[in-house]
Amino acid sequence: MKMLNQVKFTFASRSVNERFARAALAAFLAQADPTVPQLADIKTAVSEAVTNCIVHAYPDTVGPITMTAVLYEGGTVRITITDRGVGIADVAKAMEPMFTTGNPEERAGLGFAVMQSFMDKVHVSSTPSRGTRVTMTKRLDTK
Ligand code: ATP
Ligand code: MG
Repeated sequence: MKMLNQVKFTFASRSVNERFARAALAAFLAQADPTVPQLADIKTAVSEAVTNCIVHAYPDTVGPITMTAVLYEGGTVRITITDRGVGIADVAKAMEPMFTTGNPEERAGLGFAVMQSFMDKVHVSSTPSRGTRVTMTKRLDTK
């Protein structure tokens, strides 16, 4: 797959920046002319991944979140969200629907399930106390 364009940016894990990340991504993806529902799907998936960094990766601190978006020929988008936070000991378990280490009154444990349903492919790699990387791919429809 030939890469057409790429952006990479790093922001602090403050909840106010979730909106920035979504907006910046939407601005970048505009060149690929995505449909409104597809753009909404991608923004939702990215929100879940960024929220996880804010809430879980850096529970008591503020740390860096890096987002990379790559556009490939044919309309495939790959988004990578990386943190240097606490990491995940058992990724398979963490990705099970309804699994959460958060406060069950606030967290449904459905973030990864949402990412998987809105994107074509989701891959998570993580090392405890080193951080987590979520890579999500989606093929955009051609209009
Ligand atoms: P919800 O997303 O529904 O509010 P949740 O965040 O707990 O709840 P998921 O997004 O599916 O659910 O994540 C499942 C679990 O994986 C989390 O409870 C947390 O333990 C772990 N996790 C997810 N992302 C990260 C991350 N970036 N760093 C550390 N742990 C993470
Ligand atoms: Mg979550």
